[in-house]
Amino acid sequence: MKKIGMYPGSFDPMTKGHMDIVKKALTIFDEVVIAVLENSSKTMLFKPDERKKMIEEIYVNDERVRCISLGSKLTINLAEEISAQGIIRGLRAMSDFEYEFQIANINRSQNEKIESIFFTATDKFTYVSSSMVKEIALYKGKVEEFVDPVVQKELEKKFS
Ligand code: ADP
Repeated sequence: MKKIGMYPGSFDPMTKGHMDIVKKALTIFDEVVIAVLENSSKTMLFKPDERKKMIEEIYVNDERVRCISLGSKLTINLAEEISAQGIIRGLRAMSDFEYEFQIANINRSQNEKIESIFFTATDKFTYVSSSMVKEIALYKGKVEEFVDPVVQKELEKKFS
């Protein structure tokens, strides 16, 4: 049976930190489905469609990765719908842990068959976040170290 992992998140925009988690997840799962969150309390720079399009472009040559919208569904329900065996999340620091632990327990309360699987960030990406990347781009700094060229181009367009 094909092992499917769902990686939910805001991805506003996708960073090399996220990409590193996808790469690690592909050592365990046959397919990684990235689910882009639409309704969030956070203010987003990119529209859900724009975020999804960038991700699709990044992984255009890798059929093991695809991207879907979370829509107005609960993450765990969407994971069941797409027959995912696990929910993928990334951990950068202890500060991520408390929040992630809480979310994992909430998800388990809804469906105990789907486990949350955590991958730890590689050293050089521990401090990379979407918000940091947006801040650098806003002030015309260099972002190529932190994002794929596809994202770099879109950030330049947004802030030009
Ligand atoms: P959310 O708004 O749902 O936290 P994000 O897009 O910010 O969504 O992140 C999605 C997941 O990826 C989270 O589990 C987050 O901890 C993880 N993540 C984000 N950046 C990194 C990084 N640089 N290294 C490892 N994991 C990361």
